[in-house]
Amino acid sequence: SKRAGKDRINFFKPSMLEHIIRETKLEQGLKTAIVNQEISLVFQPQYFVGSGGLRGFETLIRWQSPQHGYVSPITFIPIAEKSGMIVTIGEWVLRTACTAFKKLQKSCEFSGKLAVNVSAVQMMERSFIPRFRKVLEETEFSPRNLEIEITETSLVHSIEQVRFIVNELQKIGITVALDDFGTGFSSLSYLQKLPFDLVKIDKSFIDNINRDLKSNQFVTTIITMVHQMNIPVLAEGVETESQKKFLLEKNCDMIQGYLYGKPMPIDEIKALLDLKEEH
Ligand code: C2E
Ligand code: CA
Ligand code: CA
Ligand code: CA
Repeated sequence: SKRAGKDRINFFKPSMLEHIIRETKLEQGLKTAIVNQEISLVFQPQYFVGSGGLRGFETLIRWQSPQHGYVSPITFIPIAEKSGMIVTIGEWVLRTACTAFKKLQKSCEFSGKLAVNVSAVQMMERSFIPRFRKVLEETEFSPRNLEIEITETSLVHSIEQVRFIVNELQKIGITVALDDFGTGFSSLSYLQKLPFDLVKIDKSFIDNINRDLKSNQFVTTIITMVHQMNIPVLAEGVETESQKKFLLEKNCDMIQGYLYGKPMPIDEIKALLDLKEEH
């Protein structure tokens, strides 16, 4: 009948099939991406709002694929999570970032933070903590200079499990940041249940500063509330002077975004630090 035909068309949406095929191809490509040196890291600077001093850098992964061109981590991280490849990729990110920054610390005497994003799938893997420690030992990177960023959406796991991991990391001396704050359902309740060292306000809220009154109020409320819990706040995705001015007035502690610096390869970071030392 006409109706069954219509249903069938809905079910076999060509776009859906294309999506599955693309994901499968990306998954295949991802398997050899590390050995083929298609994966690299860039680092985005973070600054203190008040003093303007450099606080550290966030590590961001890049994939330049010969078949697919540039693939955003927003696309391939979920694929890596589904297939379990995130465990290998995540460890590679940590090892590569720590190795690069250890070298940097020696040549430039840089003592700020190195922030690394960790996926929930990676964090909940059985041997996460011992493997993590091993990388720190092998790279001789000081845990005091390391920060782990976990996103709210990763906290769908049992809160006790997450708390255990967070505590273990903090015992080693690593700080733990709550990323993309405000985008999940239970932001506030997580903040009360887990001992975060930093809260990163999601870019979507920063985007709307001075565009609509509600966003201004929301950002102000977040900063005030998080400060009441004695936790510092970082605003991410800051692009304009007017956003920066607002954040300064509201006593936001740290800032990260294109206004201050885009994610850069390690050579550019080194040049930036060398330049700083000369002045
Ligand atoms: P995120 O952790 O929230 O990272 C911030 C994203 O915003 C980055 O996108 C960064 O390049 C971008 N960004 C920073 N400042 C600005 C700005 O002023 N304007 C605009 N328009 N964008 C800005 P990117 O590098 O594409 O990463 C996207 C997401 O992929 C990250 O979001 C993070 O969730 C994930 N990701 C990146 N690297 C890793 C990694 O090594 N491991 C894991 N598990 N996830 C990663
Ligand atoms: Ca992040
Ligand atoms: Ca974020
Ligand atoms: Ca994000």
